[in-house]
Amino acid sequence: MSDRCYSCLREIKRRGYCTKCKKSLFNGINIKPLNFDKTEFYEVKTQMTERMSISGVQDKISLTFGDSKTLTPTDKNGRYILKPIPRSHDSATRLEDIAANEHLCMQLSQQVFKIPTAYNGLIEFSDGELAYITKRFDYVVNEETKQVQKLDQEDFASIVGHTKDTHGDNYKYDSSYEEIADNIKRVVAASVPALEDFYIRVVFNYLIGNGDAHLKNFSLTRGVGREDYSLTPNYDVLYSKYHIKEDSDMALELFKNTETTAFGAMGYYTLEDFETFAEVLGIKKRRLNKIFQNILQTQNIVHDMTESSFLSQNAKDSFNDNFEKRVKECLCYSISGYKFIGITQPTIDKYL
Ligand SMILES: [Zn+2]
Repeated sequence: MSDRCYSCLREIKRRGYCTKCKKSLFNGINIKPLNFDKTEFYEVKTQMTERMSISGVQDKISLTFGDSKTLTPTDKNGRYILKPIPRSHDSATRLEDIAANEHLCMQLSQQVFKIPTAYNGLIEFSDGELAYITKRFDYVVNEETKQVQKLDQEDFASIVGHTKDTHGDNYKYDSSYEEIADNIKRVVAASVPALEDFYIRVVFNYLIGNGDAHLKNFSLTRGVGREDYSLTPNYDVLYSKYHIKEDSDMALELFKNTETTAFGAMGYYTLEDFETFAEVLGIKKRRLNKIFQNILQTQNIVHDMTESSFLSQNAKDSFNDNFEKRVKECLCYSISGYKFIGITQPTIDKYL
C-alpha cells in the first residue's frame, strides 16, 4: 500500500507528508491532523464581502502552532493560511474540488514551471476532510538573531495605486500585465530576471485557466536585511474556470493599449500575443525560445501530476483538456494576414 504526499504528490509509504515536504512546510514537525472540523472553522472565521471572484468564494483563516504538533486558529501573526472546501455558493460550482485544485496548480507552479512558489499542501480536518494549507512567506526566521521577522510586502494594487476609492469595486481587475511589468522595471533593481519570472507566471496562469490572477495576486517583497525588492513567491493560483463559468480567460489584459492582429481577428490570446508581450517585457528571442521549449516539454509531466492529484476524475479530465487546448492556443496558433493558420508542427519546430 502506498500513498501520495499531501504536498509534492510523490508516492510515500504512509499517509501524510514526505520527509522533504515535512521539512519545508512544517519545519520538520510531524504535524497532526487539525483538531477541529469545518463547522468549527466557520465559527472562527469572520465574514468578508468582496467582488464575486474565486477569492470571494474561498473562506480562509490563519493558523499557528498550538502545542508542538498541532496547528490552531489565530487572529494575529498566523504562520499558515487554511482554506477548506467552501460551503455551496451561488456563483461557483463543483467546489468539492477547489482545495485539490489549488494544491495541484501550486505544485505545478513549483515543480514543473519552476516558479518560486509558497510552500503548500493539503491537511486533514479532525473528521478526515481535506483542506488546502499554505505557509506564509512573509514571516521568516532571521538567521542572525533567530527571531521570527515579518517582511515588508506590497501587492500591485497598492504599487500602481488602485483602491476602491480611485477605481471602484473592480479596482483589482482594472489594469494590465504590461502595467505590472512597467512597475517591475521601475522598482526592481534586478528587473531582467524578475520580468522573465513574471512573464512565465502570466503564461502559467493562462495555461492552467486561472482567470483570477489580478493585481493583488502579484506582490513585491524585501528579504531580511535587503534594500532591493523582488517578486514574492507565487500564491493563489488555481484553475478558476472550473468553478466560475463567466470568468474571462485572464483577469487582466496583456497590454495597456496594444492589440495584435491575431487578437483582433480571433478575439482571444494566441502565439502572436505572447510573442509581442515578451518583446514588450524586453525578453530576448533566445530566452523566449527556451521558455516555450520548456512549456512544450511539460505536457506529459503536467498530465501525470494531474492524474496523481487529489482532484476528482471529472476535474482531472477537465484540467488536462483545458491545459492541452491552452498550450495549442498559446504556442501553436497565429495568423498570417487574415487567413488562420493552425501552426502545429511548424511552430513546434520553431521552438524545439
Ligand atoms: Zn512531499
